[in-house]
Amino acid sequence: MTASGTPSPHDTPAPSAAVASQAAAPDLAGRTALVTGAASGIGRACALRLAAAGAAVRAVDRDAANLGTLPGEAAALPGPLDTLTLDLTDLDAAEASADGADILVNNAGLQLVRPIEEFPPDVFHTVLTVMLEAPFRLVRGALPHMYRQGWGRIVNISSVHGLRASPYKAAYVAAKHGLEGLSKTAALEGAAHGVTSNCVNPGYVRTPLVERQIADQAKAHGLPQERVLTEVLLKDSAVKRLVEPAEVAEAVAYLCSPAASFVTGASLVLDGGWSAH
Ligand code: NAD
Repeated sequence: MTASGTPSPHDTPAPSAAVASQAAAPDLAGRTALVTGAASGIGRACALRLAAAGAAVRAVDRDAANLGTLPGEAAALPGPLDTLTLDLTDLDAAEASADGADILVNNAGLQLVRPIEEFPPDVFHTVLTVMLEAPFRLVRGALPHMYRQGWGRIVNISSVHGLRASPYKAAYVAAKHGLEGLSKTAALEGAAHGVTSNCVNPGYVRTPLVERQIADQAKAHGLPQERVLTEVLLKDSAVKRLVEPAEVAEAVAYLCSPAASFVTGASLVLDGGWSAH
């Protein structure tokens, strides 16, 4: 809080991960949940939150080192947690990994901040592969089992950038807008089979993905790094703080709960008012 009483971007009134994991948990015992990008940030919080609700979690990431620390962190939670080291650019392996999942959380992602004329085409291709084509293949791999049992939950971690553009993020914005379309199509096809598909759309979340882009944003916008948070990242957010990964995980848990069985084809926005502009 500043001296004037105005909330500063550094205020963190959000619940801690511990508080969030104690929140009313939907009972997901007996369900299997596959979470991609589970080694870090939002995916890690989702894996822990779903295991706290009793789901058997299959945690997927290409980062074996950070993934390897997750089972220890989840050890006291009711749901068992297994890890699978996998680079999602291996699309056949991605599709195969989703077989048998009752809940699929498409979360893995990456970011590069560059003007279009300097944006490397190979990075554009990788971003689209990991953040749009792999989710398609994972949904494709998960649906036969979900349809057979007449129940499934697909949660796609989109972004406010699934609904709004920002300069210098051509690949990310294109992938997230595509993911919104994939999610809505899966909702229409899955409804008759008891399968819902939704997006969760956070503003800037306190994760390594955001920390890594501060230097790039400073360069692209011609600003010192210490001004990037307030003048770039939180410029359009009415609530002047970052969202916590645990808050995003809570929205994912809600979408898997019985209370959300009529919610499908939706985009659940957690953007501090950004898209209210
Ligand atoms: P993060 O960098 O902390 O974690 C992303 C994880 O994805 C990492 O563990 C990474 O290893 C994994 N990953 C990346 N490429 C992969 C690949 N080819 N195969 C397997 N795993 C791969 O990032 P985060 O902030 O937690 O972001 C997670 C998701 O949330 C992303 O889809 C991101 O777009 C979205 N999101 C993030 C924010 C934010 O502000 N951090 C805001 C809105 C949406």
